[in-house]
Amino acid sequence: MGCQSQLSCRDGCGACCIAPSIASPLPGMPDGKPAGVPCAQLLADYRCAVFGRPERPAFCGGLRPSAEMCGDSRGAALQWLARLEVLTAPERGPSDILTAH
Ligand code: SF4
Ligand code: SF4
Repeated sequence: MGCQSQLSCRDGCGACCIAPSIASPLPGMPDGKPAGVPCAQLLADYRCAVFGRPERPAFCGGLRPSAEMCGDSRGAALQWLARLEVLTAPERGPSDILTAH
């Protein structure tokens, strides 16, 4: 296992700006962002148009690259984040998922 302590965001990924839902409003998405939908502030090169600006949701600032979340590919990150989204959905508990899969 390699050292992942200084993991940085992968260029051209954007998985964590697509898979998760965001409850707070953001520019272009006044009701927040639904899960699985690219953020309105996600640029074509998968960078954030409001990075460093006050309108960037606190959720985004709290999300840091990690080996667990980012995985070894964009597809792996999308899958991990989609699963996390289901596991944390208010109407379904983790036990529902664990028994279903
Ligand atoms: S999932 Fe990880 S690598 Fe992909 S955009 Fe988010 S922080 Fe960057
Ligand atoms: S506001 Fe920026 S960092 Fe947050 S989800 Fe949208 S594009 Fe990603």
